[in-house]
Amino acid sequence: MNPEIPSQAAPVCQSCGMPLTSPELFGKHADGTPNPEYCVYCCPEGEEKMTGTLQEMIDFCAPLEVRLGLHPDEATARARLAAYLPTLRRWKRQGA
Ligand SMILES: [Zn+2]
Repeated sequence: MNPEIPSQAAPVCQSCGMPLTSPELFGKHADGTPNPEYCVYCCPEGEEKMTGTLQEMIDFCAPLEVRLGLHPDEATARARLAAYLPTLRRWKRQGA
């Protein structure tokens, strides 16, 4: 959650912000090769197949991340995600 983290830190999924701490978590291109820009949950079969809106991503991630203990409650999770996700490449590219 620190914007000063250098880019050498573990990459994060450019869709949901999940840290990609091991290669098994990398997404896939349509041809099955690893796509280290995204996690396997967001991008299991190529960037072309990624669907959904920023709002849907927040709806999906907020309860999940509360369960993971990243946020004290869902309202906080939503506020943080709404501020953070638009800084990721997938949403920047869409101009969201
Ligand atoms: Zn992801």
